[in-house]
Amino acid sequence: MPYSQQQITAKHRWSDNVFSFTTTRPDEFRFKNGEFVTLGLRQQEKLVARAYSIVSANDDEQLEFLSIAVPDGPLTSELVNVDPGNAIWINTKSTGSLTLNHVQPGRHLYMIATGTGLAPFISLLRGGEVFERFDKTILVHTVRTKEGLAYRDELESMQDDRFHYVPTVTREHFATTARGAELFRSGELAESLTLPAIDPEQDRVMLCGNPNMNHELKNFLLEAGWEITNHQGVGNFTVEQAFVLEK
Ligand SMILES: Cc1cc2nc3c(=O)[nH]c(=O)nc-3n(C[C@H](O)[C@H](O)[C@H](O)COP(=O)(O)OP(=O)(O)OC[C@H]3O[C@@H](n4cnc5c(N)ncnc54)[C@H](O)[C@@H]3O)c2cc1C
Repeated sequence: MPYSQQQITAKHRWSDNVFSFTTTRPDEFRFKNGEFVTLGLRQQEKLVARAYSIVSANDDEQLEFLSIAVPDGPLTSELVNVDPGNAIWINTKSTGSLTLNHVQPGRHLYMIATGTGLAPFISLLRGGEVFERFDKTILVHTVRTKEGLAYRDELESMQDDRFHYVPTVTREHFATTARGAELFRSGELAESLTLPAIDPEQDRVMLCGNPNMNHELKNFLLEAGWEITNHQGVGNFTVEQAFVLEK
């Protein structure tokens, strides 16, 4: 496995259970915006590694990641305590189904994320190519508490007539407390942004969130005649798991 030892260069705590960190970048490591890698820490000589979406754009000097902190999680209970200078192992084989090659060209691109599912979309937005490919890009990020709205300032400052950022918070008082999935399904999202109703012929959708959200919206889109990207070809929507539920 091509694991490369790198160093943590900075860490930022967004909330009790969400943090982000940057690392040095392995030489020769190339990836597409929106992809994920596996990374890990050595614990008693054993490498404990997990899948992580890359937050940074592919031309950034450093790599950046957004992480949940699961109290008894084998990796994140340790990762949450790392400091700049500490070692981290990064596998330089990147992959994923949320790159711009995973949706057909189109009019509007809807990115729907929950929690740390935001990460690949930050990479795509920072990369900028998305704004050349689509007339408008809409990012919906749903979290439980306001603090969970990682990268909120950066996303708000990116807003213009080509990019709409729609944060929603489900367990605290906030401007929008509905789930992003609900806003999308009901048509309220497009309507509130004075955009035409979503249309499989013209619009494209990327999903990255908890297994329930992914499942719900994937079924909704399939039933409405949308085509998912898979080994048979590139469709008008694509899905990536933000994490896997424990069995
Ligand atoms: C394709 C892919 C990309 C991923 N990208 C990221 C990422 O960018 N950032 C990230 O933090 N995690 C990401 N994950 C999840 C990650 O791989 C680990 O599961 C997570 O870091 C927790 O590791 P752990 O060893 O501490 O606990 P684990 O034993 O891996 O997980 C314990 C439990 O915690 C919950 N959980 C795990 N990850 C999350 C999460 N991100 N949000 C909410 N609940 C979670 C689940 O219920 C899981 O069963 C991704 C997973 C996949 C499959």
